[in-house]
Amino acid sequence: MLSFDFSSPEEQVFYRPLGDCGINIFFKRDDVIHPFISGNKWRKLKHHLINAQQKAKAHIVTFGGAYSNHLLATAAAGAKFNFKTTAFVRGENVTNEVLSICKVFGMQLIFVDRESYKNKSELFRHYFANDTLAYFVDEGGLGAYAELGCREIISELKNHYDYIFCSVGTGTTLAGIINASNQQQLNTQIHGVSALKNGNFLKSDINKLLTQPLKYTLHTEYDFGGYAKTKPELIYFIKDFSSATGILIDPVYTAKTLYAILDLASKNYFTTGANILMVHTGGLFGLLGMKQKF
Ligand SMILES: *Cc1c(COP(=O)(O)O)cnc(C)c1O
Repeated sequence: MLSFDFSSPEEQVFYRPLGDCGINIFFKRDDVIHPFISGNKWRKLKHHLINAQQKAKAHIVTFGGAYSNHLLATAAAGAKFNFKTTAFVRGENVTNEVLSICKVFGMQLIFVDRESYKNKSELFRHYFANDTLAYFVDEGGLGAYAELGCREIISELKNHYDYIFCSVGTGTTLAGIINASNQQQLNTQIHGVSALKNGNFLKSDINKLLTQPLKYTLHTEYDFGGYAKTKPELIYFIKDFSSATGILIDPVYTAKTLYAILDLASKNYFTTGANILMVHTGGLFGLLGMKQKF
C-alpha cells in the first residue's frame, strides 16, 4: 500500500541581511517534500486523493494556468498513486517546461479559452458526465480538504516559533495554519503575505475557512505589482538569497514573503531575537515562468 504520508524538515537559514536585523529565520521546507509534488500543492491535494481512492475513483480532473504548480503536482501524484489525470489549462494552446513534464507523467491537457474556463463544473460535466471514475478537483485543490491538509504543516512542527509566515494566493494554506495553531494552542503570531494586488479582499475568503474567528495578520504591501508580476529588486533579492544559501525561492510567492520578512525586520517590526518560521510552500517551477528575467 502506497503511503500518503510525506513530511518536510524545518531548518534554520543563515542569510546575513536577516541576521543583521537581529532575528532568527527558519524554513519549513515543504519545497523538498518531493521534486514535483511540491509544497502546499501536495498538502492541498492529499485529502482529495484519499477521498477519491475511498470512492473508488480512478481519474482526477483538475484545472490550472500554464505554469501551474498545482497541475504539475497533480500529474506527478496521479502517476504515483495510480490515477489517470486530466487538466483543463486556461488560455491558448502553449507548450512550456511545466506542461511538458505534466505530459511525461501521463496527464492529458485540454486547453480552454478564458471565458469557458470560468465555469469549471460545466467543463467537468460537458467532458466527463459519462466517466463514473472521474473525480473533480478545483483549481489549486481549493476547498475544505485542502485546508485540512495544510493543518499538517503545523502538526509536524518540532520547535516553537514567535511568528509563522506564509505566502497567500487563495489563503487556503494560511487558513490551515491558523486553524492548526489554534487547535494546538500555539502562542504564535500568524502572518500571511499576499502575492496578489490589493489583497485585502482575501481576508473574507480566509475567514470563511477558519473554524472560529481567530487573529492573524495579512500583509498586502508586498505583491510587487500583482500576481506573477515582479520587479528588478525582487529578482535581485532571489539571486542574492539563493546564491548565499543554496535554497531556491520562487518569484510568484515565496520570494515576496521572504522579502516582506526582511523589510519588516529592517523596520524593527519584530522583537529582537525573535524566532520566525517561514513556510517554504515550494512552487520553484515558477522560476521557469520568468526565466528570461534572471
Ligand atoms: C499555490 C501557492 C501558494 C498559495 O497558496 P494558497 O493556499 O492558495 O494561498 C503559495 N505558495 C506557493 C509556492 C504556491 O505554489
